[in-house]
Amino acid sequence: MIDLITGFGVDVVYVDRIDEKLADRILGDEEKKLVPDSKKKEFIAGRFALKEAFFKALGTGLNGHSFKDLEFLKKSSGEPLPVLHKDFRGFNMIHATLSHDVVAIGVVILEYLVGNVYLALGTNLGDRMRNLEQAVKLLEEHGVHPRRKSHVYETEPYGLKNQPPFLNLVLEVETKLSPHELLDLVLYIEKLLGRERKEKWGPRKIDIDILFYGNLIVRTENLIVPHYDFQNRDFFLRPFLDIEPEYVHPLYGKRISEMYKELKKDTCVPIGRI
Ligand code: ATP
Ligand code: CA
Ligand code: CA
Repeated sequence: MIDLITGFGVDVVYVDRIDEKLADRILGDEEKKLVPDSKKKEFIAGRFALKEAFFKALGTGLNGHSFKDLEFLKKSSGEPLPVLHKDFRGFNMIHATLSHDVVAIGVVILEYLVGNVYLALGTNLGDRMRNLEQAVKLLEEHGVHPRRKSHVYETEPYGLKNQPPFLNLVLEVETKLSPHELLDLVLYIEKLLGRERKEKWGPRKIDIDILFYGNLIVRTENLIVPHYDFQNRDFFLRPFLDIEPEYVHPLYGKRISEMYKELKKDTCVPIGRI
């Protein structure tokens, strides 16, 4: 596999021709909160243009999709921030830009970068090293290929204290699986390796969390990417530093190395590699 631009789309909408009633059909719940009191039409035209551009880049048009399958929120810089509410495949990077005048112009580029998907593994029951090794082997057998592995760290339990220490590591992987296919696979592997869900944050043979999927922001009922609590966990940040300290968190716009410095406590002790 090589890095590839997989789609490119542009769309132009006349701001004056927008009917404000379109808002209900085009905008998602979070977008609706961003509609400014003045320049309503301009906002709706912009979101319309961006979504049309996205579906062109995807290559399908609106066929089988809805305008509410993704939203364009705002970065602190004002740039559009794409948020996916559905499983899309074929890309792990999305870039979007918008310009307004008499018209709104939306441009979207979809890209497939080799790797750039990050998983965190944790275990505190049974033969912990072996659990990690088996999980990595099963991932590989199902089309999720490790590119880089952090050290294995022993760490203090998080949230629920009274349980054995964990082993944790972070992997960069290369995969053709879509975000939700990847989630289904990790849940399947957890089950196969004998994970039982009893109490939240309780002891487990194996836990596999999706930390990042390229720069995509995914928010669906069963998948939140980037991991919702990434910034607070030593056992995510410390191993991540081994692999890619310059990686920029797609939601916070901060480097992993900066985020690590802001961490209050680091309990990670390196104990080897798999
Ligand atoms: P935490 O999510 O706080 O790390 P946990 O890993 O112990 O806790 P689990 O019981 O493993 O939680 O997962 C509960 C559900 O979380 C999963 O069934 C899955 O649908 C959902 N989930 C949402 N986002 C993610 C993600 N990025 N990676 C893995 N699972 C996720
Ligand atoms: Ca977890
Ligand atoms: Ca999990």
